[in-house]
Amino acid sequence: MLPVVAIVGRPNCGKSTIFNRIVGERVSIVEDTPGVTRDRIYSNAEWLGKEFRLIDTGGIEIGDAPFLQQIKEQAEIAIEEADVIVFVTNVRDGVTIEDETVAKMLYKSNKEIILAVNKVDDISFKNDIYEFYSLGIGEPIAISSTHGIGFGDLLDEVVNRF
Ligand code: GDP
Ligand code: MG
Repeated sequence: MLPVVAIVGRPNCGKSTIFNRIVGERVSIVEDTPGVTRDRIYSNAEWLGKEFRLIDTGGIEIGDAPFLQQIKEQAEIAIEEADVIVFVTNVRDGVTIEDETVAKMLYKSNKEIILAVNKVDDISFKNDIYEFYSLGIGEPIAISSTHGIGFGDLLDEVVNRF
């Protein structure tokens, strides 16, 4: 069985964009407005010869549950299914209440958690990533999924946790 890597986090942080970039195809729908996507959420992926199964939990439909409940249920599924969880936040919004809620859930689980701070498109955002240490998940990895920045570091970290 392949190791399972789950992408979690609130809507609009870039989970689908990250999924597509790691998978190397546009299989997950990227949305300009926050919401639940109806798209493919599983794919196999590979980094440095290590194969894994990737899940975009943002695409899992949880009926018409309220916004925060959906994010929590998606995080719970990730905790149950995944060996490694990539927790996605974004530097434009900073740390939000939803991020803190998810961080607490992940922190309590015994899973390997990697904190990705997305939308760090250029150097002017570099200093804004430090506030993400407050989530208690460890060192934030700055990425830009639209520009393809930071994916080497992120994926090195992912495959190191198997
Ligand atoms: P999801 O809801 O977490 O799956 O987020 P999406 O992947 O659908 O992206 C939400 C929005 O953020 C879209 O408009 C994306 O184009 C945008 N986005 C995603 N990654 C980046 C990034 O690295 N930089 C910037 N500036 N925008 C991004
Ligand atoms: Mg999505």
